[in-house]
Amino acid sequence: ISIEQLTKVYGHGDKATVVLDRLDFRVDAGEIFAVVGPSGAGKSTLAQCVNLLERPTSGSVLVNGENLSQLGERQLRAARRRIGTIFQSDGLYSRRTAAQNVALPLEYLGVTTAEAKRRVAELLDRVGLSDRAGHYPHQLSGGQRQRVGIARALALRPQVLLSDEATSGLDPESTASIVSLLKELRDDLDLSILFITHEMDTVLQVADAVARLDHGHIVESGRIVDLLRDP
Ligand code: ADP
Ligand code: ADP
Repeated sequence: ISIEQLTKVYGHGDKATVVLDRLDFRVDAGEIFAVVGPSGAGKSTLAQCVNLLERPTSGSVLVNGENLSQLGERQLRAARRRIGTIFQSDGLYSRRTAAQNVALPLEYLGVTTAEAKRRVAELLDRVGLSDRAGHYPHQLSGGQRQRVGIARALALRPQVLLSDEATSGLDPESTASIVSLLKELRDDLDLSILFITHEMDTVLQVADAVARLDHGHIVESGRIVDLLRDP
């Protein structure tokens, strides 16, 4: 995924606020790229532009070279499937089991029941929850619920996985389990993972590269190995 000169302005004239100012970065397949910044930096706005819920004021979001920011409504819906999102709140349906939650996007797509069953079993296995398929969200830990959310995001076989504060609010142990799962997905599925967070310590655990966002600007970016070598 490439972000090119991405700019978002809210309001007009005197009241215009530049929330994102010409952001540029690229996340390669098989890479976890973190964007870290304090409250108000523009992280949620960036997340919404990346998962195509908000249109940038100018600039582009490209996946495999295809500009997704200029698409019409109908094409946009299909393009959204290329980007799986996980949020801080797991967003699971409380009256559906883990398996039923993961099956939901497949049902929307009209995948046959037999095929959906096969895919759900494979996805739950991938996130290490095969033995929790029949559990309801309240019967799962926070980390397990987040892993169900990841399985659901993967159901549509996205090329990009967007993590929007997905480990915020988790205890260190659950965070570590999500971190190792994301690294596995990066390596096994060759996903481009964009990891947005306010937690620098999690960035150091999970990311290959990081950009620091402040007041809508990237103020610093680099490979994690270089940051750790040269504090
Ligand atoms: P973060 O997620 O890093 O806390 P946000 O993207 O939520 O940052 O917000 C960045 C800035 O953009 C804030 O100053 C916020 O007030 C402003 N902002 C966010 N959404 C809107 C909106 N819909 N209209 C006007 N300003 C907004
Ligand atoms: P193959 O080409 O043999 O399917 P892959 O490594 O592409 O091998 O996929 C291995 C398994 O992972 C397949 O069952 C596929 O359905 C699944 N898979 C591949 N890419 C994704 C993805 N982006 N999201 C979810 N599942 C995926």
